[in-house]
Amino acid sequence: MAMLEVSNIHTYYGNIHALKGISLTVDKGEIVTLIGANGAGKTTTLSSICGLTKPRQGTITLEGEDLTPVKPHEIVTKGVSMVPEGRGIFARLTVAENLDLGAYSRPTNRQEADKDLEEIFSLFPRLKERYSQVAGTLSGGEQQMLAIGRAIMAHPRLLLLDEPSMGLAPILVQSIFGIIQSINQRGTTILLVEQNALMALSIASRGYVLQSGQIVLSDTARNLKENEMVQKAYLGAG
Ligand code: ATP
Repeated sequence: MAMLEVSNIHTYYGNIHALKGISLTVDKGEIVTLIGANGAGKTTTLSSICGLTKPRQGTITLEGEDLTPVKPHEIVTKGVSMVPEGRGIFARLTVAENLDLGAYSRPTNRQEADKDLEEIFSLFPRLKERYSQVAGTLSGGEQQMLAIGRAIMAHPRLLLLDEPSMGLAPILVQSIFGIIQSINQRGTTILLVEQNALMALSIASRGYVLQSGQIVLSDTARNLKENEMVQKAYLGAG
């Protein structure tokens, strides 16, 4: 059984039919990527999975359990965390307070929370240096690290990442993708939305290509990288 199974979902914003029958699966332990142009429906797919935009039709199951009737905050307690596009951190709170909020879905004591923090600091030493700093004054890269760190505080089984490389300098993009890989190696399954298709396909095992609310291609990351249509449209070739 797939860890996540999205089956023929249709999601709307009012009359706008944003997702027109999306189906995809993510197996335990995988990194799967969703690529596509602006407006293709990538963010809407993630927000449908985490319950923020409920599909009108179709089903989403997590290890066999139907998530469609479940409220977003309960979906977090079931093990799905999202790092939203634009990061969604609390600008006026400190790094420490943002990280603590990430653990809200779990009944943690201080000792456990401190252990989680140590793990996050081993992934992101910069966050330790900035622990007491107000989050709004962090650099873009540091804010992205904080957003990922906060999501990890919830101990997700499945982590949804929405364009983690957006707005980052190339050197930071490399390091964020490296960190995504280590999070995966520590046992978290990942669904990664990216416009940086080349980087995404270099760390994912499989990928789906979205166009105008539909999946037009699904294959191994290796095959997608070599696919002519993908190269022309998303890898800057041709
Ligand atoms: P981007 O990379 O630009 O974020 P995307 O692939 O994530 O693009 P979505 O944000 O999922 O695309 O948008 C899919 C479609 O739904 C687009 O046509 C978009 O205009 C529309 N849409 C998204 N959010 C809303 C909203 N809040 N209200 C109305 N339409 C929306």
